[in-house]
Amino acid sequence: MNRPFEALYVHVPFCRSKCFYCDFYSEAGRTKDGYVKLLLTELSLLQPELQQFPTVYFGGGTPSLMEPSFFETLLSRVGQFSEVTVEFNPEDATPQKLRALRELGVNRVSIGVQSLSDTTLKALRRRHTARQGLKAVEEALKVFNNVSVDLIYGVPGQRPEEFLRELETLLSLPVKHVSLYALTPYSETQLGRLVELGKVELPPEEQVEECYRLGAKLLEEKGLKRYEISNFALEGFRCKHNLHYWRLNNYLGIGPSAASFSDSRYRRNVSSLESYERKLAAGELPTAEEVKFSPDELKEVKLSFGLRLTEGVELEALGLKEWFQELLAADEAIGAMVEEGLLEFSGGRLRLGEKGVLTSNAVIATLLSKLPKSTP
Ligand code: SF4
Repeated sequence: MNRPFEALYVHVPFCRSKCFYCDFYSEAGRTKDGYVKLLLTELSLLQPELQQFPTVYFGGGTPSLMEPSFFETLLSRVGQFSEVTVEFNPEDATPQKLRALRELGVNRVSIGVQSLSDTTLKALRRRHTARQGLKAVEEALKVFNNVSVDLIYGVPGQRPEEFLRELETLLSLPVKHVSLYALTPYSETQLGRLVELGKVELPPEEQVEECYRLGAKLLEEKGLKRYEISNFALEGFRCKHNLHYWRLNNYLGIGPSAASFSDSRYRRNVSSLESYERKLAAGELPTAEEVKFSPDELKEVKLSFGLRLTEGVELEALGLKEWFQELLAADEAIGAMVEEGLLEFSGGRLRLGEKGVLTSNAVIATLLSKLPKSTP
């Protein structure tokens, strides 16, 4: 029997305009009347026992563009949650909207401030100002105890000490959770194309790492401990919903481009509102891709996700303890990684060391390349 779902993700695929670095699926310049009905249709095509979730996360796109009635309809349908997060863009964080959502059971908001420097916001081509970003956080804190803020570093023209000052300003407010994301030139984005054409130059790697290092240090000093490579929280304020992803617990995603995981099966919806609507109208689930992981693949995914977490992974539970102990004794590269503090192995758990956090992709890739393969 399948384990129950631990988390529901609702994708809201609408934005006022498309940010040039963003690789999430969203339609610019409009919301769609009746979108909630499409989501309810998708839910009704799934089994009835799927409809209670400990955590719900409205992400996007820009969920804060939606009216309170949108959230009311969905939350009254799914019931039973301990954490309900809504992502907000600063422009939408009005006292009225924040209060209306709290009345409906929302208890956590995540605000896409991205930067507290107007110059950096301009470089990112965001629509809001630094003042609006800060005001949004202040307004959110009047209504919610659990407020998270996203910041971007590694932006052209942004110096590490400036980034640190922005973070200091932010931390003068009682935010409970901060996510730090490096600006990444994904190939299918406008930024990716501009970087490839040499029309935008990203800061050198050492400067980007310095931003992260300084930011992480300040956050830790202020009591917001890193629990995932990009995520920091005060005690008791880790994002329960996202922890389900990284621990590979079962989660359900609805809406175009949303992903779901159930036991060893991964499913992703079509990344087009039009196809999503068409499939639902035909009485079909809007699936674009479905993969059943083999036991080897599942170990690989669990290891790569689990290593993102500060808690790391318990190798015994994955049947990998002996493998790693043997690897450590026989493989020079892995031995060196442990010696240099890129990887740590203690109490049966494997985790990234302090230095490994900065080069996590390379460390995890090296480790995965050494995983044993069972004979089919
Ligand atoms: S970054 Fe946020 S607001 Fe900008 S396009 Fe992406 S989802 Fe929309």
